[in-house]
Amino acid sequence: MITQRCPPQSETFDVAVIGAGVVGCAVARRFALAGARVIVIEKGADILSGASKANSAILHTGFDAPKNSLELELVQAGRREYLEICASMNLPLVETGALVCAWTKDEAAKLEGIAEQGLANGVSTVRLLTALEARAIEPGLSESIVAALHVPDEHVVDPWSAPLGYVSQAMALGALVLRQCELLGGSFDGEWRLDTSKGDVRAKFVINAAGLYGDHVDACLGFTPEFQIKPRKGQFVVLDKAASRQLKTIILPVPNEITKGVVVCPTAFGNILVGPTAEEQEDRVRATVEHDTLAGLVTHGVKLVPGLANIPVTAVYAGLRPASEKKEYRVIDRPESRAITLGGIRSTGLSAALGLAQHALKLHGGSARGEFVEKVAPTIHMPNLAETRARDWQAEGHGEIICHCEMVTRREIEAALNSALPPGDFGGLRRRTRAGMGRCQGFYCNARLAEMSKGCLATPLAVDQENGR
Ligand SMILES: Cc1cc2nc3c(=O)[nH]c(=O)nc-3n(C[C@H](O)[C@H](O)[C@H](O)COP(=O)(O)OP(=O)(O)OC[C@H]3O[C@@H](n4cnc5c(N)ncnc54)[C@H](O)[C@@H]3O)c2cc1C
Repeated sequence: MITQRCPPQSETFDVAVIGAGVVGCAVARRFALAGARVIVIEKGADILSGASKANSAILHTGFDAPKNSLELELVQAGRREYLEICASMNLPLVETGALVCAWTKDEAAKLEGIAEQGLANGVSTVRLLTALEARAIEPGLSESIVAALHVPDEHVVDPWSAPLGYVSQAMALGALVLRQCELLGGSFDGEWRLDTSKGDVRAKFVINAAGLYGDHVDACLGFTPEFQIKPRKGQFVVLDKAASRQLKTIILPVPNEITKGVVVCPTAFGNILVGPTAEEQEDRVRATVEHDTLAGLVTHGVKLVPGLANIPVTAVYAGLRPASEKKEYRVIDRPESRAITLGGIRSTGLSAALGLAQHALKLHGGSARGEFVEKVAPTIHMPNLAETRARDWQAEGHGEIICHCEMVTRREIEAALNSALPPGDFGGLRRRTRAGMGRCQGFYCNARLAEMSKGCLATPLAVDQENGR
């Protein structure tokens, strides 16, 4: 079993980041690049233990984000930075584009307003289309649509390799990542003394990126929470890779006040997703799926793209959005306490993470004050898991194929297990390699994976299965 490290007692870190979701990983990278000595404190056995493990993987343009909002600014800043760094980090960008489809005249009328909002938000490529024009872009679309809005710059990414790449770059610059380490409390007397399940951590500055526990962590740090997390569940079905022939574009409904609505969306891995729902719940941990809801999602997908009929479902899952009482992100700067909260990053955090990290660095002010010496970005080359580019099984010397559904090689699994941040649990191994995520959902390869990862995971395979994960 891997022994997760304990905090060094002799050091005061420049910045402690609480939570290693996509936001915490991006923040760790940004501050490490700026020259800060960073520690990341994550209570899960692996990074991406919260909201970031289950999303739709769309890199948003912000065309429909609230005007003049911080969310809009940071989604666009995050997207810009992702486009700048993705090639050098070997992170995929699937240039799907999106069509917002109207089914009724009322919805078609709303498209004009959405197009105007897109233009006002600086997304100049949005274009209103007739049904015929939309079907020329996406021939698989139902003949029943009335009109559409084309947003060619909405893209799809790999939602797991990106944050892993961010935090790996931070680690290459000396950041320390502690997993199975829960923040329990903290006090500030000019410097922070953080009480964690692995001992005390001293830091000059704290950034709360605890997602679904953002309000709890603020309370642990002695702040009166200024928001309350209201988890919003999103259920998905994942259709077999055969579905990818039916659809190349993200299909969005006309959104309502609460949600962007159920999307039919290609993934970087060659599947089609249908989801998410938007269901408020109290529970911050359990995200269950319900048969009738999933059946409804399949029906919805087939209504939009009739060619999806009879395509088998490969997997189902649900994620929890760290929503709060308000739509806007809850970014709270407390300069007198040397702390920032990046809270309520509900449904666009994958897109905005790099932007949130830039924003946090600006609020911190250390770079501007010359507190840190900026570092040269070390090269990080992430393993490619996307179907749009060559995979490891296509290259020589891969050892053998361990997961035949997703064509995952022995070499890929060994590389993940021996990497600078190896998986902490079986979910982490799946997210790093896609092993066990295909048609058989690990029926054929789990035993091999358990054998290969024996002694490597803090939470071994058998325990994960007991928990239903
Ligand atoms: C269904 C769904 C669909 C989505 N689709 C998209 C999309 O297409 N595009 C997009 O841009 N965004 C999307 N999102 C939003 C995106 O996934 C979230 O905004 C993002 O994951 C939030 O990341 P986070 O780092 O703030 O939180 P989290 O991922 O929840 O990370 C917080 C981390 O903090 C840790 N933590 C909590 N408490 C403590 C503690 N006391 N001590 C130590 N660690 C702690 C947790 O274990 C967790 O790992 C979607 C979300 C959902 C749920």
